[in-house]
Amino acid sequence: MEKLQVRAKLVVPIFQGDRLWGLLVAHHCSAPRDWQPWEGQLLQQLATQLAIAIQQSELYQQLQRANQQLENMVMVDELTQIANRRCFDHRLDSVWQYLLREQGFISLLLCDIDYFKQYNDTYGHATGDDCLCFIAQAFKQSVKRSRDLVARYGGEEFVVILPNTASDGAFHVAQEIHKAIEQLNIPHTASDVKQYVTLSIGIATMIPTPKMVPLDLIEVADQALYQAKANGRDRSYINRLS
Ligand code: GH3
Ligand code: MG
Ligand code: MG
Repeated sequence: MEKLQVRAKLVVPIFQGDRLWGLLVAHHCSAPRDWQPWEGQLLQQLATQLAIAIQQSELYQQLQRANQQLENMVMVDELTQIANRRCFDHRLDSVWQYLLREQGFISLLLCDIDYFKQYNDTYGHATGDDCLCFIAQAFKQSVKRSRDLVARYGGEEFVVILPNTASDGAFHVAQEIHKAIEQLNIPHTASDVKQYVTLSIGIATMIPTPKMVPLDLIEVADQALYQAKANGRDRSYINRLS
């Protein structure tokens, strides 16, 4: 301390409850000093104010962490841990508005597992739940761009939003999903299409117009999904609107 020319110092503790958080130290450099009682009291008051500020900032950080956890719970599907329907609805609205302004393509993939009722009937509901988790992970691996979104739409249905993606790109992603599900090779002996779990995908592609709403895109994808099922399942069908 002498090297730093400190000639006198006054130290007061900073407490968080009964835990010592740190020390508040005043140095006097030009000469030795007899600290006056009021100086000690002033430093003590400062330490008390600091302790309050530190506590508040720690509480604020706890609150932020709790809010983040809450947001995750509200936006994440409990079973598969991917985005849930609520997250999908929000994202579709914002992507739609953005691409309406930009006049860019938006593609939607509505995906439904084939003969999943038979899967549950054959292997049990718990194995059905495991299957949904594996499928969700395969989706995450097939859909790579950070602005794309994979969500569980409900039950055994998944949905993918592909911003700035026209029909060729959307069809390509759909094929990647089919491949990834095939590679999972989850046995499904009760399926009428294959001996492993497959899914059907309805694809809708459009450039948003002011006369349309996001629900129109979902409906077009739903019709395409119906067509993919009717054409034999384990395939994609695409509806091009523009
Ligand atoms: P399709 O090929 O026409 O889609 O036939 P499907 O049997 O998949 O269609 P359906 O809509 O008749 O059945 C969907 C089944 O998905 C019914 C239900 O038992 C199952 N399912 C929905 N949600 C869950 C879930 O969270 N866990 C499990 N294990 N099964 C679910
Ligand atoms: Mg279904
Ligand atoms: Mg199904």
